Amino acid sequence: MNMHATGFIDTARWAGKAYISDWQASSAGTIDVSDPSNGNILASVGLCGPTDIARAAKEAKDAQKAWAKALASERAAILNKAADLLEQNGDELASWIIRETGSIHAKAMIEIEHGALFIRHAASLATQPMGIFLSGMDERTNYARRVPHGVVGVISPFNFPLVLSVRSIAAALALGNSVVHKPDPRTPISGGIIIARIFEEAGLPRGVLHVVPGGADAGEALCSDPNVAMISFTGSAGGGAKVGEICGRHLKRVQLELGGKNALIILDDADLDIAASNAAWGTFLHQGQICMATGLILVDERIEQDLTERLVAKANRLPAGDPSTGQVALGPIISDAQVQNIQKIVDDAVAKGAKLLAGGTHDRRFYAATVLSGVKPGMLAFEEEIFGPVACIASFKSDSEAVELANSSDYGLAAGVISGNMARAMAIGDQLNVGQLHINDQTVNGGPYAPFGGRGKSGNGTRVGGPADIEEFTQWQWVSVKPTATPYPF
Ligand code: NAD
Repeated sequence: MNMHATGFIDTARWAGKAYISDWQASSAGTIDVSDPSNGNILASVGLCGPTDIARAAKEAKDAQKAWAKALASERAAILNKAADLLEQNGDELASWIIRETGSIHAKAMIEIEHGALFIRHAASLATQPMGIFLSGMDERTNYARRVPHGVVGVISPFNFPLVLSVRSIAAALALGNSVVHKPDPRTPISGGIIIARIFEEAGLPRGVLHVVPGGADAGEALCSDPNVAMISFTGSAGGGAKVGEICGRHLKRVQLELGGKNALIILDDADLDIAASNAAWGTFLHQGQICMATGLILVDERIEQDLTERLVAKANRLPAGDPSTGQVALGPIISDAQVQNIQKIVDDAVAKGAKLLAGGTHDRRFYAATVLSGVKPGMLAFEEEIFGPVACIASFKSDSEAVELANSSDYGLAAGVISGNMARAMAIGDQLNVGQLHINDQTVNGGPYAPFGGRGKSGNGTRVGGPADIEEFTQWQWVSVKPTATPYPF
């Protein structure tokens, strides 16, 4: 262990640097990382460009073969140790997540706890059976085994940076790949430095993991690098389309985990207090900056008014402010540009006839919990992922209309259906075009044991987590073995 007075994170070790086999200066200078609540500079990290990516990818390739050959139990032990370190230093590391990403304490702790769970789940994959014997076509022995891809490039977003990075990194490592990871340049500490630190202290061999903070240019260099065999991308549909295009050009496997416009359907037989609480959590957690946030609240018209009143009362009781200094429910939005985008979507809805019943305003980056009713197709609020704390209520007359409205989105990530009648809710759920369906729950649900991913514009049909990890982060190799070589007609 090598920890300085600055605690586990040990700022002096990595300030101004990237992790390319070790903590080193990068070629493109440094990034000042700021607190979105107040603009205070928290630290600086190395900014990586294509040269750094190429170096990291080469060193990752050189290290991968020995890592894949290490005993599965050794790989698992290193991962479990990294999970222990994350938990043991949870309070300290959560304080970085709170300041860097604008998270309330509860959300930061979800990242720590789920981060550790994802790493432990990945550790358990290392010792799973990795092959099958095949029926014989002749006297030879045939089997098929799962082998690592080689170097996996991971690209992750700002909103849940620790969990969304570690869920791919840990699974890839456990299954014998090495990793070059590019976190979002706005959250390189929660999404990168913390991960490098726990794996460094856990004894991961040199060269197996690299953390290269950078922008889209660094991400694109990772996608086209010849030493990188697979890209695991989590981010926007626009970014994902670009990444998919580059990976296609280079015939590279790509996993795309993208955005969502997730419907929560509330039927007329639902308990309204519970339904309103689900709608508020799904919409407002982390200021709505979650891919599976409840983007559309579809309510039976018979209960619309009662449900809306309850949700408005909740929105008015959720204060927004700096989560590192106050007891708030909502922290800041990640950037000024994103605040303006939220405002544009709210204003568009109001201009087209929606009713603004709460919020709709912001103080600097603190956007108030907002409720819009009468949201309809044709409004941006109905169609677009907002990534802000805006509850968009639309009503329906029948269960079939609810299904039609929910499925009208180009996205297909998550949906929830709440009803007093489980069979009725499941009959509706069966018709929804989504990767995650939650009966009697809101849309924000994730965890290491479930395969998570989207349909339509939410992804390319890949999944991360649970049984999907072995499918995603390894590939089949058919091996046939003859006792001795035999002649052919030629
Ligand atoms: P973004 O696509 O702009 O950025 C995500 C990451 O991709 C960042 O690291 C960014 O630097 C990188 N990137 C951007 N353009 C790139 C390019 N051309 N080539 C390579 N890399 C590139 O996303 P964002 O707006 O910052 O993040 C929010 C989005 O992520 C939302 O749409 C959200 O729904 C989505 N998201 C999806 C999931 C999921 O699991 N499905 C989870 C969280 C967030």
